[in-house]
Formats: sequence, C-alpha cells, structure tokens
Amino acid sequence: MKIKSTFSQSLISWYKKNARSLPWRKTKDPYKIWISEVMLQQTTVNAVIPYYERWVREFPSIADVSQAPLQKILKLWQGLGYYQRAKNIHKSAKIVCDGYAGQLPEEAESLRRLPGFGPYTTGAVLSIAFNKRYPIIDANVRRVIMRVLAIKGCADTTQDKRILEFLHQTMPHRDIGIFNQGLMELGALICRNRQPLCLLCPVKQNCAAYRKGVQEIIPTPKKRNIQDIAAAIGILERNGHYFIQKRPSHGLLADLWEFPGGKLGEGETALQAIRREIKEELGCELEKAEHIMNLRHFYTSFRVHLYVFRCKLKSYPSGDQTHQWVTLKELSNYPMPSGNAKLVARLESENSVERIGLSPGGISKSCR
Ligand code: SF4
Repeated sequence: MKIKSTFSQSLISWYKKNARSLPWRKTKDPYKIWISEVMLQQTTVNAVIPYYERWVREFPSIADVSQAPLQKILKLWQGLGYYQRAKNIHKSAKIVCDGYAGQLPEEAESLRRLPGFGPYTTGAVLSIAFNKRYPIIDANVRRVIMRVLAIKGCADTTQDKRILEFLHQTMPHRDIGIFNQGLMELGALICRNRQPLCLLCPVKQNCAAYRKGVQEIIPTPKKRNIQDIAAAIGILERNGHYFIQKRPSHGLLADLWEFPGGKLGEGETALQAIRREIKEELGCELEKAEHIMNLRHFYTSFRVHLYVFRCKLKSYPSGDQTHQWVTLKELSNYPMPSGNAKLVARLESENSVERIGLSPGGISKSCR
C-alpha cells in the first residue's frame, strides 16, 4: 500500500510541475473538458488545439451546440475523423439542454446514458471536471501501467482488467483529475511508446519494467496493416457552380459531402472508374474527362490515392436535398472527407477550375 501511495504522490507532484499549458487545462467547465476529451481520442494534442479553440469560440456553451445545424457541427469537425463522435456530441447536447438545464450531470449513470459517453469519456469528465474517483484508460495510461506492472503482451483491452485493479487501488482520494491527467501526461512526455525517458520518470522506483530492463519490449509493438485504396473523383462545373452530393446517413463518412466518384474496380483504370461511377451514381453519360491531378490522403488504417478528373457530361443532374450545385466559395461551408477537402483547398488556391485546365504548370501536374 505504501508503494502505491508513493506512486500517486510522485506522479501528482511531477504533473503539477511539468504539465503542459493547454487551453482545456485552463478551464473547469465540464462542457469544455468533455469536448477536449472527445477530440483528444482522435489525434495528437497539437492537432487538437486549433480544433478545440475554434469549437469553443463558435459554441461557448452546450446550448450553442444543441441549436447548431448538424452540417456546422460536422464542418467544425472536418479533418478530425470519426464523425460519429461529433454527431454524438450534437445529440447529447440536445438531451442535456432538454433534460439537465444545459449542464452535464455529475452522476455516472446519467452520463453513461448520453450518446458517446463510454467508460473513457465518462471517467474523464467525472474525474477532471468533478474530481470524482473514476479511473480512465487511454493508450498512454495502458502503456504506462503495463510497464509499471511489467505486463507483457499487446496494448489492447484484454489488459484493462489488471490495469483497472491497479488504478482503483492506487488512485488518491483527492486530486483525482490531476492523477488521471498525470498518467496520460507521463505517457505522452516520458513513458513514450519508443525510447521511454526512464531516468526522468517520477515513478521509476515503482516500475517493474524499468527494474527488469524490459521497458522497451513492453508492450509488444503492433503490426499495422495499412490498406491502399485507389479512387476516381469527378469535378463537374457549370456556370461557376460545382456539383457535390451528400453521403448516406449511415456507414463510413456518413452525412459528409463529396464530389462524385468512387473506388477503382479490379483491373479498372481511373478513367473507366469515373465513367462508371457517373453513370451509376448520377445516371449520366460522360462526354469527356481530363485528368487534372492526383491527391493522396492518409487515414489510420488506409491510404487513399485519388485521381481527379474534370468532367463534361452529355447532360447534367439537377440539384435536390442531397445533390447540390454550389459556388467555390460556398463549397467551404460543406463538411467533406479530408481528401475532398484537400481538393477544395487546391481549387481555391487556383481560384477556378478553368485556370487549372489552362495552366499546365498549375495543379494539373500530379500533386501529393
Ligand atoms: S520508469 Fe520508464 S518504463 Fe517505467 S513508467 Fe517510467 S518511463 Fe515508463
């Protein structure tokens, strides 16, 4: 027990001296802590900062989120990925406004009923915002505790039972939010995935992996299986308006907007694919397609290679709720998958698709 209290004291005093100054650490507002914790599940701290700052500027309170159209929510989330999480924030904000006067409830049972509140988000909000005694496990915490306890194997949820047991025994009765944040910060700054900085570590006396010299092989490195996907995209432009369509409300990248196109079939060229996709998706015949650029985008488990064509059709689809013709300026209001958003940025930087076609030195070159 003494070892366990040394562990938490050392961790807490290290965190108080060494924690990075981050925007969401300057607030006690449970709403802002909730938003930051959901965003931090997506990507790195540095990548989250501008998203977080933009979000709280646009939506200073839960009521502002609840009243915003979903399209605006998704637009502010664009690039973070896992769009279902943004939709869950939107749904939860409405429930909190209707049932809890716009304030997040402080009880675990009530929080867990809100969309998107799994064990991690619930524990993070309860411990950091309300200082309640709930442990949390993210990738950093899992790695740190696996090393502290010298648990061999892959860093996955099968380890969490032992980790939770340790956390329940070790967690202090005050400074709970600091203890949880300290573990995550230790994982991010000191007990890093590769080359942990054990000599600087405040809990090295309590660390079995360090004592045994096995910290570099715990946890077992994951083998990443990155899939390559090739897709063709068609830019349809008429009178300064571009055609975009909304993805279905379920499945991958649901409710985002995109240019028409899709994956290349087996043995199919990009040109054949765009001809087929335009026929299948829009019921229109391609008259001419000019390959104007290539784009690449990396997701967590796949890499997308996009072949972009400027297309002329024999006849054009008309607009409706899920198919729209919009100006280049208006395009930036629509939430899009990152590859499409990159394309819009390219179009904006060149100012018009016509200039792309006319300028062989412009973006009609292959761009990555
Ligand atoms: S001593 Fe090394 S391996 Fe152990 S917790 Fe600290 S940084 Fe991680």
